[in-house]
Amino acid sequence: MATNKLLLTFAICRLIVTVGLTLNPMELLRIGVSVDPTDVEPASLDFGLLTRTEPLAVLHPGSAEDIAKLVRAAYESTHGFTVSARGHGHSINGQAQTSNGVVVQMSGSRGMQLGLGKPRVSDMLRYVDVWGGELWIDVLKSTLEYGLAPKSWTDYLYLSVGGTLSNGGISGQAFNHGPQISNVYELDVVTGKGEILTCSEEQNSELFHAVLGGLGQFGIITRARIALEPAPQRVRWIRVLYSNFSAFTHDQEYLISRHGQPDSQKFDYVEGFVIVDEGLVNNWRSSFFSPSNPVKISSLGANGGVLYCLEITKNYYEFTANTVDQEVEALMKKLNFIPASVFTTDLPYMDFLDRVHKAELKLRSKGLWDVPHPWLNLFVPKSKIADFDRGVFKGILGNKTSGPILIYPMNKNKWDDKTSVVTPDEEVFYLVALLRSALDTGDETQTLEYLSNQNRQILKLCDDAGISIKQYLPHYTTQQEWMDHFGDKWSLFHRRKMEFDPRRILATGQCIFKPSL
Ligand code: FAD
Repeated sequence: MATNKLLLTFAICRLIVTVGLTLNPMELLRIGVSVDPTDVEPASLDFGLLTRTEPLAVLHPGSAEDIAKLVRAAYESTHGFTVSARGHGHSINGQAQTSNGVVVQMSGSRGMQLGLGKPRVSDMLRYVDVWGGELWIDVLKSTLEYGLAPKSWTDYLYLSVGGTLSNGGISGQAFNHGPQISNVYELDVVTGKGEILTCSEEQNSELFHAVLGGLGQFGIITRARIALEPAPQRVRWIRVLYSNFSAFTHDQEYLISRHGQPDSQKFDYVEGFVIVDEGLVNNWRSSFFSPSNPVKISSLGANGGVLYCLEITKNYYEFTANTVDQEVEALMKKLNFIPASVFTTDLPYMDFLDRVHKAELKLRSKGLWDVPHPWLNLFVPKSKIADFDRGVFKGILGNKTSGPILIYPMNKNKWDDKTSVVTPDEEVFYLVALLRSALDTGDETQTLEYLSNQNRQILKLCDDAGISIKQYLPHYTTQQEWMDHFGDKWSLFHRRKMEFDPRRILATGQCIFKPSL
């Protein structure tokens, strides 16, 4: 107890010496700065559980002005300190962490508890204004009250708006609507100088584009205006299997090429999985596949032990329920999956969007959620996806994956090149997401070391084979690697940084720029 008090006093002194030059202790407390270990400890960790960095303090902002005050203090003080927004802390490699500085806890913030940041829906203009720390699940709940919903999603909804807009925000709707960053009308941003600016395509457009996919480098998003559409009521959710990779990718590419067609002639969501071990099929069967349809990998003629699962959905309303079967059938006729492998379910729209949360609850109950996650997300150009399949799915991975492997294509023309995000230089590129968990079960192939080593092998293979991937949710530790990642966009990225965060104090956990402290 006495040690705790001593540590707390020490932390307060350290903070006041660093921050207090420009903000007095009373002001620090008033805007919601805390050095309490129960605040500092969670802000030192993230979903990846691969790194731990302790900040000096945590800010629980009550408003955008509280954040602006803190950032101004950091910008103006002689020594300076760093400031990192933390959404829901679902990064993998400490991207929202910072040492020698303050973490701004955006999700579950004081302002939200006070009800200040409640989503405000304009049903006439079909948009919602939300606090940057709002979770997508809560955005959805608010908009559904008006019969509306955002157009573009992530697979998992317990992520913050500011966190996904700092990366891209993708799921099976991206081929049609683009990523979440293509579905934002306006933002309020606290820049690295502590100014609060409203930005959009028309107003402060340089900042708007910089922040979208900007990895938190140019400002802290405090409000986002998100595009809405009428919310579908139900979803027909279908999975079909392939043993032939080129038939699988041919069909995925065909389906995403229909993005310009009327809604009745395209699916609303296109994703896919790779199945390299029989366990996965059986697991999935218990949660999705009908028990009357037992699947045996061996009976499906899997080529090299690998199967591919196409996952598609068709949204509908009760008043269009009578046409959904025909529409689905007409589209399915064009596909070349294994005939005996069609698995269908039907559920409310909300349940479909929130599907990964169900898996989370299951994993949590088994103690399998709070484990290290050496995830690797890659954008792979269409022209090299077959090489990737041969080298990785049928090569490096062996017959055990330790977690889901997603694969689905997107159309580059749905991504705005003026934003900060980088994608491969081809009209169609794939997301390949290796979402693996490291476990301490005595099985060497499930250890963190083994999986991290496989990730390195995959990146090396891409390098050696000339597969020009771009990392999604990128992680690099040297500026040279970041320059390579951004390629032609590096000089723009750098110039924007010097303009909006000249002391380089924001989101240092990304390890792109060294702060000038
Ligand atoms: P954090 O981890 O808290 O922050 C991420 C980065 O954004 C940090 O650099 C931080 O400083 C910055 N940041 C956070 N808030 C703000 C803000 N308000 N303003 C400016 N910068 C900010 N991604 C997808 O695209 N599609 C998916 O389907 C998907 N599924 C996922 C499923 C799970 C289970 C997990 C763990 C992650 C998934 N992700 C997915 C990745 C996710 O989008 C990113 O990790 C995202 O950053 C998480 O949001 P967060 O709120 O937890 O951000």
